[in-house]
Amino acid sequence: MLSVEEARDRILANVRLTGVERIPLARLLGRVPSATSVEAAVNVPPFDNSAMDGYALRAADTPGELRLLGEVPAGAATLPTVVAGSAVRIMTGAPIPPGADVVVPIEVAEERNAHVAVPVAEMGAFVRTAGHDTRAGESVRLAAEPLTPSGIAVLASLGLGDLEVHRAPRVAILSTGDELVAPGEPLLPGQIHDANAVALAAAVTESGGEPLILPRAPDDPAAIERILAEGAREADLLVASGGVSVGRHDHVRGAIEHLGALDFWRIRVQPGKPLAFGTIGDCPVIGLPGNPVSALVTFELFVRPLLRVMLGMAGDGRLHLPALLAERIPKDHERRAYLRVVLRREGDGLLAHSAGGQASSQLRPLAASNALLIVPEGAPAGEAGATYDAILLGSLT
Ligand code: AMP
Ligand code: MG
Repeated sequence: MLSVEEARDRILANVRLTGVERIPLARLLGRVPSATSVEAAVNVPPFDNSAMDGYALRAADTPGELRLLGEVPAGAATLPTVVAGSAVRIMTGAPIPPGADVVVPIEVAEERNAHVAVPVAEMGAFVRTAGHDTRAGESVRLAAEPLTPSGIAVLASLGLGDLEVHRAPRVAILSTGDELVAPGEPLLPGQIHDANAVALAAAVTESGGEPLILPRAPDDPAAIERILAEGAREADLLVASGGVSVGRHDHVRGAIEHLGALDFWRIRVQPGKPLAFGTIGDCPVIGLPGNPVSALVTFELFVRPLLRVMLGMAGDGRLHLPALLAERIPKDHERRAYLRVVLRREGDGLLAHSAGGQASSQLRPLAASNALLIVPEGAPAGEAGATYDAILLGSLT
């Protein structure tokens, strides 16, 4: 059985980046730039402009009562010249007219009879100079991380209409099991709803991939092979769930061996010991365990990092923080456990409570948790009062 690190290293070896595509700014959220920087073609802002609604004038004329020459709204193309003893009304974002070197906010000025009385003002106050955010010619760094609203705003301010990004990896998702029925359909005796297909599709989207849900397969080797072969032709990655263990009806491992090559199929991890990894043609295939908690936790540990490498990113993109465990939680002695916990702030640190039952079939504690607490191999439990690393999956309250 492999350790989590050995398994992850083998999965991440030989991963290929997806290609690139150009995407308009309005659809860039979450996409990962393929370049590490862009060169600014313009100053941002392009011209000196006012930071306030107020009066543009010469600092040398303050304090004083100045003659009003007119008004400069945002977007004005023609500007009056401010001469000694004069001022113009100016709006936020409007260009500073020639001659003016300061803006006095409306709140501290008093306007009467086509004049404005202003207190003493320091040259440059409330003037946003051209290029104070970005200078033309500057190299603007782009992180190899999903673009955020503010990152998209920077690109827009630079005048870009689109950006080259890594193509989202296409991930084909296959649920296997004679007992599975689509969510929304009624259950016959012995059946359960297929939770994994939609959950794994959502996890793929969250990790920057494009999910493609394949038709569910019964526990039949020929059907599984046919659908896996079809998925491998269309996708950058195949993710199956169920049928990877040692039961008489577990056929996913055999299908991978038959269609391609199986690399390994067991990891010292809880939940998720049976996890098969291999290739079909040049498409990597991961067979996750069927229990929904095992499937989602092992997705987090192995599939998410793989998708990130395909997208040019490193690591898992999560915060790892030390947390004090508030209660004893038993686990398998031999395996590393990823316990579903609720983390909250306590004093200067973080306190972890069990999010509920830790069985791999208990989905609701996973949904209620905001972190996975990592308890190492060679221990029978996470111990109350001990500190462990936690992977933050949600927000902290
Ligand atoms: P398996 O890995 O096929 O032995 O399945 C382990 C457990 O997970 C069994 O109780 C299955 O019924 C359950 N299971 C397998 N696939 C799914 C699925 N797609 N959705 C919900 N439960 C599943
Ligand atoms: Mg099964």
